[in-house]
Amino acid sequence: MREAVRDRAEGAQGTRGPAGDRRRPHVLILGGGFAGIGAARKLKDADVDITLVDKHNYHTFQPLLYQLATDLLEVDAVAHAIRDLFHEHENVTVHQAAATSIDLDQRKVSFDSIAPLDYDYLVLGVGAEVNYFGTEGAAEHAFPMYTLADAVRLKDHILVKWEAADRDPQLVEDGALNVVVVGGGPTGVESAGALGELYRSELAKDFPNIAQDDVRITLVEAGPELFAMFKPNLRAYAQDALTKRGVDVVVGETVESIAPTRVQLKSGKVLPAHTLIWGAGLRAHPLARSLGVELQRGDRIPVGPDLSVDGHPEVFAIGDVAWITDAKTKRVLPQLGSVALQAGEDAGANIARLVAGKDTEPFEYHDKGTMATIGRGAAVIQFHRGRTMTGKAAFLAWGAVHLALLSTGEDRAKAMVNWTWAGFSHERPGRISVNVDERSAARPMEEVTR
Ligand SMILES: Cc1cc2nc3c(=O)[nH]c(=O)nc-3n(C[C@H](O)[C@H](O)[C@H](O)COP(=O)(O)OP(=O)(O)OC[C@H]3O[C@@H](n4cnc5c(N)ncnc54)[C@H](O)[C@@H]3O)c2cc1C
Repeated sequence: MREAVRDRAEGAQGTRGPAGDRRRPHVLILGGGFAGIGAARKLKDADVDITLVDKHNYHTFQPLLYQLATDLLEVDAVAHAIRDLFHEHENVTVHQAAATSIDLDQRKVSFDSIAPLDYDYLVLGVGAEVNYFGTEGAAEHAFPMYTLADAVRLKDHILVKWEAADRDPQLVEDGALNVVVVGGGPTGVESAGALGELYRSELAKDFPNIAQDDVRITLVEAGPELFAMFKPNLRAYAQDALTKRGVDVVVGETVESIAPTRVQLKSGKVLPAHTLIWGAGLRAHPLARSLGVELQRGDRIPVGPDLSVDGHPEVFAIGDVAWITDAKTKRVLPQLGSVALQAGEDAGANIARLVAGKDTEPFEYHDKGTMATIGRGAAVIQFHRGRTMTGKAAFLAWGAVHLALLSTGEDRAKAMVNWTWAGFSHERPGRISVNVDERSAARPMEEVTR
């Protein structure tokens, strides 16, 4: 079967230039997330030319976005300039542009700000987007936690609210400092736990005149328990760790509508809160819906064992945009950074094999365990054979795994310094809100010319 795949991809062995000279096969990678970066890195020594296009000029480390939003890490520890990652890769060209459409038959991709690009091989690693499931007011008023801009916006919003409440204590009564977090999965639990620590320690010290008892953080989960993907002992641990951090956990409840200062639950209860963090759902990037292939749950693109799209052996879909089934366990793999990185590397390796005239190989995920943090010294891990771990040991293991996922040694060092400092001092360096609309006053001419 894999031999047949190679035969069908034969047209993608490189095309001829204007003078009839053989051009190297062109690999077009859409998205510089874990998946796209993994694929490009793997092709470093392959006989191909690579163009990597991302709508941002940086790679985002999503697992640590909540730490940026809660002032534990700075922007440059959570994002890295994509061009910087490929200085040593002579076969990689990077562009910043958003892909707008893909023509699978013509093998051509159009963009918002650069000319269309043809490809011999296409790697689709454009990730996912937030899904509000049609919740009224969510698109206008919720704070999602998916991009760097989301995290910076939330961080600034929280700091602005606390400063405003300091000037006008009546705002506290109106719920200005209250936060509702939607979703009892890792994104919601990690965000709620980190906020609890920020509120009950650093902000409590920064704003001694604001009574902490008047400020509520509420985590709302529609299912009967938090952390549905984990074993019962880990769920109980997470609930307890959140409660210790001052988070009210509400399960079996759904958010019905969101207004700027109020959150309405399906039971009819209204929570006064000026901030709602959405960590409840994702669906694949809209480009997936434009391909004309039959999609799986969450609009994810189903791929074969070698990560190629059915009927298009020259197109590989990887990471959050893809519905990947592990070749060994036959399990559909979750949307995780480690899955995206490994699948990216594997897709890169398969393209290199095809270019060299070899067969592709099936993708097998090396599972180091599913893990999440609830706060400083509190984490849960479930290993794939069922063993579980909680507390400080799990927190250290979580840190080690996530440091390994960061894209460069420099990023790892920055995160280590910040985490170590926060661990010893219980301080968060990032409690600075910059108003980017502010302009310096024009200086008088004689001062400028002096
Ligand atoms: C808050 C949060 C916490 C998480 N925690 C963990 C965790 O603890 N452990 C873990 O393993 N995973 C975690 N994940 C999941 C993990 O981050 C994702 O699975 C992973 O980022 C997916 O990688 P990707 O490359 O498929 O997509 P992404 O990382 O989303 O990258 C997609 C890239 O495509 C670019 N792009 C988008 N649209 C276009 C376009 N039209 N044209 C060009 N480029 C485009 C984007 O700018 C982006 O750079 C977390 C995710 C979130 C949101």
